[in-house]
Amino acid sequence: MSDDCIFCSIVAGDIPGRIVAETDDALAFLDANPMARGHTLVIPKGHHQRVADLSSEESRAVFDLVHDLAPRIEHAVGADAHTIGVNDGPDAGQEVPHAHVHIIPRFEGDGGGPIHVAAGERPDVSDEELDDIAAGISED
Ligand code: AMP
Ligand code: ZN
Repeated sequence: MSDDCIFCSIVAGDIPGRIVAETDDALAFLDANPMARGHTLVIPKGHHQRVADLSSEESRAVFDLVHDLAPRIEHAVGADAHTIGVNDGPDAGQEVPHAHVHIIPRFEGDGGGPIHVAAGERPDVSDEELDDIAAGISED
């Protein structure tokens, strides 16, 4: 629990949230400023900023709840699909420093794009560099 974290305050019940699901280690509530009807945030109950900061139990709890909720949200708002994503760190656009997964319902013709648009300009990467990157990740 972090005293000045808005999501910790929702977990503690100190500020209201439209909670849609809760498990021992995770909580889900509607985004207060939704990108689409049904836009939901799934968070670990513990305060951690980045996905990699979660314990494997918390990580499982969060992604299990995403898995459970996605079809329920789709059904509730009549969506055709979802974009599911995490702004993992300030340079990726994270504004609330408590890790959270966005489940954003998508509708045919909603004017949005695929998650690829989040990454900005596409780099020109050679096959050799792709090999080096793959080796660097797998050897880490
Ligand atoms: P991010 O940019 O990934 O950190 O997204 C933070 C999200 O939290 C935004 O979509 C906000 O609309 C949402 N948000 C901020 N404060 C609250 C709140 N009190 N209750 C629900 N959602 C919130
Ligand atoms: Zn927090």
